[in-house]
Amino acid sequence: MERLDDDGEHRGLIVIAPHGGDIERHTDEQAECVASRLGGFGVSSWRCKGWKERREDGSGGALECWHTTSTEIDPSSFPGLGSVIDRGFAHALAFHGFDESEILVGGTAPAALKEEIRCAIEAATGGSGICVRVATPDDQFGGDDPCNVVNRLTADSAGGIQIEQSLPARRDHGTAIAQAVATVYAHKLHPQRPSWQETISDLAEWVRNAARRAVDWGSRRLR
Ligand SMILES: [Zn+2]
Repeated sequence: MERLDDDGEHRGLIVIAPHGGDIERHTDEQAECVASRLGGFGVSSWRCKGWKERREDGSGGALECWHTTSTEIDPSSFPGLGSVIDRGFAHALAFHGFDESEILVGGTAPAALKEEIRCAIEAATGGSGICVRVATPDDQFGGDDPCNVVNRLTADSAGGIQIEQSLPARRDHGTAIAQAVATVYAHKLHPQRPSWQETISDLAEWVRNAARRAVDWGSRRLR
């Protein structure tokens, strides 16, 4: 099941959960939390959710059936994703779950942004003992392949952030992690409509420029 929230033109941030539902539990809730927290910026959001009963031997669950690796997700199979894949967002953020015991911040985004997000998550999960680290090029789940859907969504495939999380991290701290990451992006995005403070400062600048032009004009006439 595919879900897209998009106004058809926003280019700041898209937040995604390619393996929502039972595939990587709580990741879709995290993506929805960030999107609603940053709703004033017009942020886009894409989630793909899968559910499947396991067989009695425990096999055949959602993860086994519906998990497509992030580098192999084909936008032509997902009309919603297909409609935004070439938008060239400045930022894309993906929530994932894995079986390791840590939280890994990866993707093709600049190192400084990854470190900022790592610090925010570390503060949000403080006291839990969960290790939060930035992926190295050797990490299998580092999400630094330009073909990874989170990177493909960004301009020049250079703005993706992929967050891989253990189940306890998602289950016990999912919302706190999402809120912390949303706060990082809130400082990087522009509001959909200029706030009244910006409108007033634009107006003040216009008045200053107009006054300067009038003075220039007056001094030319006096010469
Ligand atoms: Zn995943």
